[in-house]
Amino acid sequence: MHNGKLIILTGPSGVGKGTLLRSLRQRHPELYLSISATTRTPRSGEVDGQEYYFVSRDRFLEMVENGELLEWAEFAGNYYGTPRVSIERQLDRGEWVILEIELEGARQVRRCFPDALSIFVLPPSLEELERRLRGRNGDSESAIERRLQHAREEIAASDEFDVRVVNNDFDRALQQLEETVFSDSVTSR
Ligand code: 5GP
Repeated sequence: MHNGKLIILTGPSGVGKGTLLRSLRQRHPELYLSISATTRTPRSGEVDGQEYYFVSRDRFLEMVENGELLEWAEFAGNYYGTPRVSIERQLDRGEWVILEIELEGARQVRRCFPDALSIFVLPPSLEELERRLRGRNGDSESAIERRLQHAREEIAASDEFDVRVVNNDFDRALQQLEETVFSDSVTSR
């Protein structure tokens, strides 16, 4: 039995989920942001154990095999997954935990935690999303193409989520996210 609150934040790669969450966390340092494991190569400036745990494919598959991940998915040629133990520990302590994950992972988590609050962040348009993806360091053309293809599929599924936030004006999107997270209507057990 968990006493905390589990929040799932999903939305296409490049939509600004990470920036929104960093700002939300600055305002509310008590929120626990899960750190995922991934087989993707670090982008410049990314630090192991901070943005992600960067692991080999073998290590990732071992984690899957050992049941160490709450959910996992392949995204644009790499694996991503949420370490189970730290999340369960935080929830047992009554903490509020936020997972920033893609669509397939979000669906898996909702099956285990049907009361989790799920939020989908939308871009103002696909053109704007493409511009943001291209403005980011370190992704190859093929990676950008794959991310755009995923984006179309994810956006088509956005109405599966409890709340949708459009990240057009950043401050407004942040405010909406904050209000959604702190509305006391959904508690995960
Ligand atoms: P990026 O490579 O841009 O950091 O992340 C690519 C996508 O993977 C993003 O949509 C991000 O939300 C998602 N992602 C990050 N961590 C996880 C995770 O642990 N599980 C799943 N399913 N997706 C994740």
